[in-house]
Amino acid sequence: MDIKVIHAPPERRKAKPTDEAKLGFGRIFTDHFFTMSYHAGRGWHDPLIEPCRPLDLHPTAMCLHYAQEIFEGMKAYRGKGGIFLFRPLENIRRMNVSAERLCMPQIDEDLFLEALRKLILLEKDWIPHGSGTSLYIRPTMIATEPALGVHPASEYLFFIITGPVGAYYPEGFSPTKIFVTEEYSRAAPGGTGNCKAGGNYAASLYASEIAKKMGYTQVLWLDAVERKYVEEVGTSNMFFVIGEELITAPLTGTILPGVTRDSVIRLAKSWGVKVAERRLSMDEVMEAIAGGALREAFASGTAAIVSPVGLIYFRGKEHPINEGKTGSLTERLYNEILKIQYGQKDDPFGWRIKID
Ligand SMILES: *Cc1c(COP(=O)(O)O)cnc(C)c1O
Repeated sequence: MDIKVIHAPPERRKAKPTDEAKLGFGRIFTDHFFTMSYHAGRGWHDPLIEPCRPLDLHPTAMCLHYAQEIFEGMKAYRGKGGIFLFRPLENIRRMNVSAERLCMPQIDEDLFLEALRKLILLEKDWIPHGSGTSLYIRPTMIATEPALGVHPASEYLFFIITGPVGAYYPEGFSPTKIFVTEEYSRAAPGGTGNCKAGGNYAASLYASEIAKKMGYTQVLWLDAVERKYVEEVGTSNMFFVIGEELITAPLTGTILPGVTRDSVIRLAKSWGVKVAERRLSMDEVMEAIAGGALREAFASGTAAIVSPVGLIYFRGKEHPINEGKTGSLTERLYNEILKIQYGQKDDPFGWRIKID
């Protein structure tokens, strides 16, 4: 299938932001987006890059009622010698895993990658230049069939929007304070915790708001069955350094398999760090804090790469980690991944794809 392009006329193009320090996240979008429609019996059709516009949806479009909606989050980087993507096939495959779980149609990997490449190159001038800035990319699929009654929809829209985003740490690392909830859970075994499905995030808001009101950055989720084992933090994967071991939750279906999580694990292993993907209870975390064995904690995700955790709130008490400072392994992982993403370093794992 050929991707057609309809260029936005000059008068419909927005002025590009001039102050890259004020980009922030998720507020500014580029002039064009990619769209493609699906109808049962016909499959995907009419892949198109067109001027970005509001969608035309019937009020019964099924995504609005039954949350058949999935998405991805990735970035394009303006680096040394070109424009780069970081492990895009991982995002493409993960989106197809989410699609299967939500009874939505699969997208051809090559077409998906071509759509990304074509859209990003068309919007190339929107990719900011500053260190740590990037073009955020949000592929999304929604059920558009106009019908009520719970069933898998027969019509879908796939679209990709992009927008420039600022550096996550313009003034250096700022360790976060996280709130452990034993009352609420994010994803139960057999549920959709391993999918980037909109419904997961709607269900997480309530606990996040409680945490924010109390002055904490994000929620640390425990397993939904025993409320005992560490799972994820906010929309990132969670890591602890206890003694000489780097520990993160195993992929048992209730956590999102982060691309950054996998990159952290592979890099750390390549440096000779002992990495364990295993269940880690809050009891063990508390013991390690009390005994001085807990050296670092951080979250991993595309937005920040790694985000150091400086304090944990658990059962009414605050527990500082590493005196509230960023740990050395956390910092090393951040610098290494950043340099690979921006083409400032060798890429021994073949993670970087140059698209221009
Ligand atoms: C997106 C996301 C992550 C991080 O995934 P990356 O591929 O590293 O960006 C982790 N947990 C949740 C719940 C997420 O939505």
